[in-house]
Amino acid sequence: MGVAIMDSDTQELLKTIATKTDETEFYTPIPKGYKLGQTKFIVIFGTVMSGLGKGIFSASLAKLLQMKGLKIAPIKLEGYLNIDSGTLNPYRHGEVFVLDDGMECDMDLGTYERFLDLNLTKSNFTTNGQIFTKILERERKGGYLGRDVQFIPHVTGEIKNQLRHLALSSQADMIAIEIGGTVGDIENQHYIEAMRELAYEEGKYNVCFVALSYVLEPKSLGEQKSKAAQLGIKKLLEQGIQPDIIALRAANKVTDKVKEKVSMFSNVPLSRVVSMHDVDSVYLIPGLLKEAKIDEQVLEILHFDKNDKKKLNPKNEAVEFKRWQEFVFGIKNYKQQITVGITGKYTSLRDSYASIIAALEHAGSRLKADVKIKWIDVEAIETKKTTVKEELKDVSGIIVPGGFGKRGVEGKIACVKFARENNLPYLGLCYGFQMAVIEFARNVCGLKDANTTEVTPDCKAKVIDILPEQKKIEGLGGNMRLGGREVEIRKGTRAFAIYGNKTKIRERFRHRYEVNPEFIPLLEKNGMVFSGKHPQYNIMQILELPKHKSFFGVQYHPEFLSRPLAPEPLYLEFVKNCLK
Ligand code: GLN
Repeated sequence: MGVAIMDSDTQELLKTIATKTDETEFYTPIPKGYKLGQTKFIVIFGTVMSGLGKGIFSASLAKLLQMKGLKIAPIKLEGYLNIDSGTLNPYRHGEVFVLDDGMECDMDLGTYERFLDLNLTKSNFTTNGQIFTKILERERKGGYLGRDVQFIPHVTGEIKNQLRHLALSSQADMIAIEIGGTVGDIENQHYIEAMRELAYEEGKYNVCFVALSYVLEPKSLGEQKSKAAQLGIKKLLEQGIQPDIIALRAANKVTDKVKEKVSMFSNVPLSRVVSMHDVDSVYLIPGLLKEAKIDEQVLEILHFDKNDKKKLNPKNEAVEFKRWQEFVFGIKNYKQQITVGITGKYTSLRDSYASIIAALEHAGSRLKADVKIKWIDVEAIETKKTTVKEELKDVSGIIVPGGFGKRGVEGKIACVKFARENNLPYLGLCYGFQMAVIEFARNVCGLKDANTTEVTPDCKAKVIDILPEQKKIEGLGGNMRLGGREVEIRKGTRAFAIYGNKTKIRERFRHRYEVNPEFIPLLEKNGMVFSGKHPQYNIMQILELPKHKSFFGVQYHPEFLSRPLAPEPLYLEFVKNCLK
């Protein structure tokens, strides 16, 4: 692992002067109750370029270690200065994933929740914005005792502090750290330095470094080239990080020759250089890594005692791995194929709808169906470049996902109308729930100018609105209603049956507007059933049309809760109905 072991004197010194920043170069605020060396860390860096699937790789590796019986807590260290991902454009950065505690974070957290079947919290996600805010707040309070505040040791100290807090709060056996961005980016330099310090302080065999790199295969040459990977890893070495394991992304299986070259130039034994080539589904990656025995290598590097029955559970590992492989088998060995239409703005970017696609895969695997996606260009429908009928002619169902603002709204409403009138399965998610209410109000209840005040603030029938009396509750009004909330389900409805006859479920929300209670009696009189609502307030959360083959809308985002081995019930129902 190439890191110095700190002698016991230094360790002692570190403990006693941890927060006395003016007397020492060691500034590492060690949380109360934390013992250096008590937790194992695995750190994943990306080199050469972004977009290699670092999150999927990290989650897959963490999954294998979790299957072994280890308690894993993942964390992503994000390079941007935003405090969270809430204000980021999903078409640029991928979807905004919402945690139960309301944290709006990077889509990789979604990957972690799905792979590890965990509910994460804001302590599993940090950004430079969060780190610097903490430091600047402390500085204003005179917390640095007359010292100039520096990247080293204060910023790096704060990063390590957060990791150790996570170790304490999660009681995990291992913290899996994903460093955002690519080695060489200015914004993650201090994260990398903090990892070097972490390894130094935690001591030998407690921190494992993994570098994910990329092997080029230019068409003009027809062979794999390792130089870019070598240079990327060299960059990491320059910063004092000797990787223990190297994973090589590539279009095709990485050849032995290339692996040997990378091994030789980076001091990493050949058995710890692994090919992570393109595969049909991201869920195949754990299997790929297991075949390469990378999980065993991690245990060896971190000196886990294989006989430690408290931590490792080989019997359970076999069962867990089998269950995972069965899920993967379901994805690959389908009996039926269907196409589901999804409306979206810049629909070419799959990342902006990552959780929806994952939820369809989970349901598909369970039902042995391959669910293909057709992106519906609602703006082309609006501008009459195409018709709804034409766009939806070959789909078995349609999803209108979450969204904000005016763009494409009339096209979405046209799709809802088509689905409702033609008995085509419909699933409206958040904005799609609101679109279903607007369409129904216009075309069934006769409120011709019904709309949301998000689009037309002065329309007559404000069926979707921010209501002054609701503004005070639960962040509606100026703020978004964010995170996990309870939904009360009405007995005897289809939603009640779908959710296993439960009267209360918990789902994740991210919205500002809601159904205007003034219109609920009219909507209900005309046949819309609100089968889920807020337990206390008059906030509608699930709608259904009982006579329709499958017509549902939800104010929440069920896709955030779908897991490979536990598909979200509403998605399962939707796909089932699409198959009929
Ligand atoms: N724009 C709508 C609102 O703010 C829906 C939000 C969403 O779809 N996430 O209520």
